[in-house]
Amino acid sequence: MSVALVLLEVLPSGALAASSAGLLAAAVEAGEPVAVLAAPADVLDRAAEQAAGFGAVRVLTAEVDPAVLTGPVVDALAAAVAAESPDLVLASNAIESRDAAARLAVRLRLPLATDVVGVGGDDLGVVAHHAAFGGAFTVDGAPTFGPLVATLRPGAVDARLEAQPLAVRGLQVTASGAPSARVEDFSETVAPSTRPELRGAGAVVAGGRGLGSKEDFALVEHLADVLGAAVGASRAAVDAGYAPASTQVGQTGVSVSPRLYVALGISGAIQHRAGMQTAGVIVAVDKNPDAPIFDIADFGIVGDLFTVVPQLISALEAHKK
Ligand SMILES: Cc1cc2nc3c(=O)[nH]c(=O)nc-3n(C[C@H](O)[C@H](O)[C@H](O)COP(=O)(O)OP(=O)(O)OC[C@H]3O[C@@H](n4cnc5c(N)ncnc54)[C@H](O)[C@@H]3O)c2cc1C
Repeated sequence: MSVALVLLEVLPSGALAASSAGLLAAAVEAGEPVAVLAAPADVLDRAAEQAAGFGAVRVLTAEVDPAVLTGPVVDALAAAVAAESPDLVLASNAIESRDAAARLAVRLRLPLATDVVGVGGDDLGVVAHHAAFGGAFTVDGAPTFGPLVATLRPGAVDARLEAQPLAVRGLQVTASGAPSARVEDFSETVAPSTRPELRGAGAVVAGGRGLGSKEDFALVEHLADVLGAAVGASRAAVDAGYAPASTQVGQTGVSVSPRLYVALGISGAIQHRAGMQTAGVIVAVDKNPDAPIFDIADFGIVGDLFTVVPQLISALEAHKK
């Protein structure tokens, strides 16, 4: 049976990152999913239980010092590759995991596929699915030698696996001694919001330059809250100061694949579409009937968003009652 190693990110609380269940469900297309956890000793038990709950058939653990960045995670992954001879090593395309995946590929001289939207297999081995040209095409790529190291776009896979019995193995890790940055000080920023994280959110409401001001951008947040969605923004909205940079969706921002993406006052430039075109259902509100966003929208409303969106909010709130 082929093995697909899956690097899962462990948050400081010991919980697994939101991407974890989707990563394991994606990996099963290429082999039996075996989780790799590299985390401080005091959180490993909790994280391992959660990984089995998300469908990992085995959980490989390595204790690492959280103050040392990336290097020890790569050491753990290298040990897991040696122990399991996988066909695939899958990690989230989030900042820390993709850093570790890239370093692993360089260290072990393995092929690397980044920002994939799924993996599969054929007679010759693992295949990586990419969304290309802003999501207009799906392209398959396959390595000529393996195993393949791949990073998965958060939210790209909705499927979930059944829980497995917990089977934990400690990894024998040899420290490479590669230079690593050290964290001197750490304090967690608690976002004053109950909204979901943009990366991996099931629904996103995003606003563009059409909102006109930071004050009016609150309309985007209001609709997001009614839908239980994350808030996104175009680069124009971010550059104008309507929304923080962390909310930027697109080529130079976050790539998202939610089930629902609502674009308000966003024209649909190719650089914006690159980050959201793989969304399941796209709804656009724009007063310009020729806005390119309507080329990819499943539902388009041509109109003034300050007229349309309050009606939409009222209708949704009435529906909830
Ligand atoms: C290298 C590079 C990287 C880039 N990366 C990104 C990126 O990551 N993400 C990104 O978003 N952009 C990116 N851009 C910028 C991109 O090219 C566009 O400039 C940007 O996406 C435009 O944002 P927008 O749609 O909000 O603004 P606009 O293109 O100005 O569109 C505003 C829209 O709002 C509509 N509108 C105005 N008022 C109303 C109203 N009252 N009611 C309804 N509709 C209204 C208008 O009709 C228009 O369609 C990048 C550009 C470059 C060169």
